[in-house]
Amino acid sequence: MIPAAFEYHAPKTLRQAISTLRKYDGEARVLAGGMSLVPMMKLRLANLAAVVDLGRIKGLSFIQEVNGGLSIGPMTTHYDIESSEVVQRISPILAEAAALVGDVQVRNRGTIGGSVAHADPAADLPAALLVLHAKFSIAGSARRRIVRADRMFVDAYTSALEEGEVIAGVHVPAMPPRTGWSYKKLANRASRFAIVGIATQVTTDEQGVCTRARVAITGAGPAPTRARTIERYLTGKKLTPLNITKSATRAIAGIEFLGDVHGSPEYRKHLTMELTKQALTEASERIR
Ligand SMILES: Cc1cc2nc3c(=O)[nH]c(=O)nc-3n(C[C@H](O)[C@H](O)[C@H](O)COP(=O)(O)OP(=O)(O)OC[C@H]3O[C@@H](n4cnc5c(N)ncnc54)[C@H](O)[C@@H]3O)c2cc1C
Repeated sequence: MIPAAFEYHAPKTLRQAISTLRKYDGEARVLAGGMSLVPMMKLRLANLAAVVDLGRIKGLSFIQEVNGGLSIGPMTTHYDIESSEVVQRISPILAEAAALVGDVQVRNRGTIGGSVAHADPAADLPAALLVLHAKFSIAGSARRRIVRADRMFVDAYTSALEEGEVIAGVHVPAMPPRTGWSYKKLANRASRFAIVGIATQVTTDEQGVCTRARVAITGAGPAPTRARTIERYLTGKKLTPLNITKSATRAIAGIEFLGDVHGSPEYRKHLTMELTKQALTEASERIR
């Protein structure tokens, strides 16, 4: 399919990009990797007056170690993230989730900023960013604002971004010692999107008692979400197989499960509990 006619802008600075977006008063969007936006335009699900390509703006693709954590540019591709030694060392769950996005062509084009802004309910990176307590630096108004990951993913294809705003950076805090991580998903065989995906990070003290548990679920409901019931249940307990199994049954609390051609709500509930058990088991084995 061919998209409807639109204007194309390729600004050289973020400031120019934002002022161009403003001129179109909600009828323009930024273009990053184009892996989601272009198909939407071709299918006429997005009819835009203009696209504002971020691809010619220097300095939007980077991975830096900052205070033991990470600062990542919005145009950094999934492939750059999965193959970065710095990401593998500091936030291995992010590298693990990025490596499971689509296929290598999608990972070579798709960006972290695009994945976050698009807020696909089955996307992988948002779940990892939720357990990492990532923050997003948002440009658009006179002063940049910061949005926390647990405020970013509002609903299906709806993020906390307002009209004319652009994600300018992704910030991930350092991982505490004695932390294990895991990202598990059952992928749609064609697109590789998650039918259900579970991201988890668990931290223990020297006696092996869980001091912090974070679990996020993607694909199951309208938006990726933290499983706080499990997090509360595990905190203060040893990560024994029994406690992990008991906690996994709590994974389904508070989720409005989706049903579609890929899986019924009952199937997604079952997957959520099973993958949570697998992810927590792997995370506890990886504690270092
Ligand atoms: C065949 C296929 C398989 C895929 N499989 C998976 C998968 O398994 N898991 C997964 O998570 N994803 C998957 N994706 C989606 C892929 O990860 C995309 O990279 C991602 O959804 C969008 O990133 P993008 O850079 O291509 O953004 P674009 O398509 O360019 O943009 C998407 C949206 O985000 C907005 N946007 C982009 N960048 C910014 C920014 N910096 N600030 C504000 N708004 C911005 C755009 O305006 C647009 O509305 C798949 C895509 C395809 C085509």
